[in-house]
Amino acid sequence: MSDLDLLVVGGGPAGLATALHAARAGLDVEVWEQRPGVVDKACGEGLMPGAVAALDDLGVRTVGQDLTGIRYLDGRRCVAAPFRAGPGRGVRRTALHAALRDAVAAAGVPVRHRGAGRLVQHADGVDVDGTTAAHVVAADGLHSPLRRALGLETRRHAAARFGLRAHFATAPWTSYVEVHWSPGAEAYVTPVAPDLVGVAVLTAERGPFASHLGRFPALRERVGEPAGEVLGAGPLRQRARSRVAGRVLLVGDASGYVDALTGEGVALAVAQARAAVAAIVEGRPDRYERDWHEVTRRYRWLTAGLLGATRVPPIRRALVPAAERLPGVFAAAVNTLARPA
Ligand SMILES: Cc1cc2nc3c(=O)[nH]c(=O)nc-3n(C[C@H](O)[C@H](O)[C@H](O)COP(=O)(O)OP(=O)(O)OC[C@H]3O[C@@H](n4cnc5c(N)ncnc54)[C@H](O)[C@@H]3O)c2cc1C
Repeated sequence: MSDLDLLVVGGGPAGLATALHAARAGLDVEVWEQRPGVVDKACGEGLMPGAVAALDDLGVRTVGQDLTGIRYLDGRRCVAAPFRAGPGRGVRRTALHAALRDAVAAAGVPVRHRGAGRLVQHADGVDVDGTTAAHVVAADGLHSPLRRALGLETRRHAAARFGLRAHFATAPWTSYVEVHWSPGAEAYVTPVAPDLVGVAVLTAERGPFASHLGRFPALRERVGEPAGEVLGAGPLRQRARSRVAGRVLLVGDASGYVDALTGEGVALAVAQARAAVAAIVEGRPDRYERDWHEVTRRYRWLTAGLLGATRVPPIRRALVPAAERLPGVFAAAVNTLARPA
């Protein structure tokens, strides 16, 4: 007999969404998070319409700025695709975490401030540092220590990309997420409060945030100096050999990540959480592997396709002009990703 039906390791969006789905399914669930309090993290902070709908459905009330679409800019041109499935939301990462923590507390799920160490699998359960659970969800992030410990890590992609983000104390000038393209980096501008915008830079090149922002002179001029600290993350691309190892299921970034290019991380984390809990409740954890592929297919194909194409300099230069010439195709791509899973 296990102490718990489900132990969730990692209290980010994936782990807390898993806890909410598990509580809803009547499982005895507990979350372990190694960092205390409300957790901040490098993130573009744009919740796509699918993420907003999935969080609403879980009773997670996020506060932020409505996002009405995506705009691509290259210094000379600007092309916009409005969201068709209702607005997304720009939400400070700390506000998102606080809202998730509140919902988890309201559902009666304990979140313990502790890190998971040694994991041992048995025929009928999993032992993590002396606590036993019928199943474990590893939602321990991009560099998932449990994925590595389970031998599910695969070789990293050669052209590693990184993300850096900062905030600027300025009123948002648009309700669109702006993606500014330059030859070696993209800058994602997301309104997150009436007096605050976030800028996340994604690039394969090393360097401080200020020098990356310098590639976008008009944007730098507009936002001025960062307010608060710069956070970073990467390498972004992470692969897992499998999403399931016995009674352990990988959810969120731990299960594999392509890139932040399409801003889908939180939407995927919530969709994966739902699929993982459904498989556990059914007593078929192995089924999650198939469901994970289904839930992430649109994102993996479009993000990997866009990422691969924009690594080639002439294609990268032609991207915004092409989107301008083919606005229907651009809008269809944006809305394929933005719609609820
Ligand atoms: C630059 C950048 C921009 C992005 N922009 C967007 C965007 O605009 N929109 C969007 O939806 N997504 C975006 N993403 C992706 C999004 O941030 C992630 O997909 C999301 O945070 C995944 O959540 P997670 O819970 O899987 O991982 P995390 O949020 O990383 O949470 C994992 C948690 O596990 C904990 N942990 C790790 N090891 C242990 C352990 N041994 N024991 C206990 N706890 C542990 C960590 O402390 C952490 O809190 C972006 C990412 C980056 C890097």
